[in-house]
Amino acid sequence: MTDRAPKIRVFVDAALHEGQDLAIVEQAHYLTNVMRQGVGDAILVFNGRDGEWRARLTRVGKREVSARVEACTAPQRNPPDLWLIFAPIKKTRTDFIVEKAAELGAARICPVQTAHTNAERIRVDRLQAHAVEAAEQCGGTYVPQVTALERLDRLLDAWPAGRRVMFCDEGRAGASTVLGDLHGQAGPWAILIGPEGGFSQAERDRLTQLPGAVPVSLGPRILRADTAAVAALALWQAVLGDWDAAGAKP
Ligand code: SAH
Repeated sequence: MTDRAPKIRVFVDAALHEGQDLAIVEQAHYLTNVMRQGVGDAILVFNGRDGEWRARLTRVGKREVSARVEACTAPQRNPPDLWLIFAPIKKTRTDFIVEKAAELGAARICPVQTAHTNAERIRVDRLQAHAVEAAEQCGGTYVPQVTALERLDRLLDAWPAGRRVMFCDEGRAGASTVLGDLHGQAGPWAILIGPEGGFSQAERDRLTQLPGAVPVSLGPRILRADTAAVAALALWQAVLGDWDAAGAKP
């Protein structure tokens, strides 16, 4: 039994409220064998909807850990309405993109098939698990949803009116960044990052004509897609996102 402040954060599916009993299966091994938690130890739990709560372990088994929810430790905090749309690349680099998007504050992560995408198949469940792990680790109370792989042209066919796109176009490398065009444009947004093969001319033409699309340069060098995703998320967050409010707090 210890009273130190709990640092271990675990994502659960169940609704969270005081007195709720939780059955934790997925992280049972992590909690008992890796973190050596026992009955009476306190952990933090969140479910992506109800904020963060302290929970105390009431039973510890090999396959399942039980815990009772005690008190809310942080309110639910959702990221801005920002989608990250990207063409999947090699497995570990795709994992990296999902992890970083969850940390940097994307609301939704949408892998797309573009003309020059040569990603085989993607495992959405595995990518979703990476997003959960990133949220557990970065103190977030929200987990971005990873959507199924979709063709870019189909996504654009059904593009929601009013959602702007920060279209990261390697064809503009070295041009002025036009980040100024983002200023003051609150509302739903998406960031679009192409594959290692870049965008086709047809895709570029269509994207440039999309209402609300802002073609953007990420500087004079051609970045790898994973670097480009991180850079674009950071730039967008700095101009339009939730970083300012967080940074202003003492
Ligand atoms: N093979 C392409 C590069 C693709 S880089 C070529 O040589 O031209 C992968 C993706 O990262 C691009 O589709 C784009 O979305 C983004 N990107 C990389 N560097 C960029 C830059 N300087 N400006 C804007 N977007 C960039």
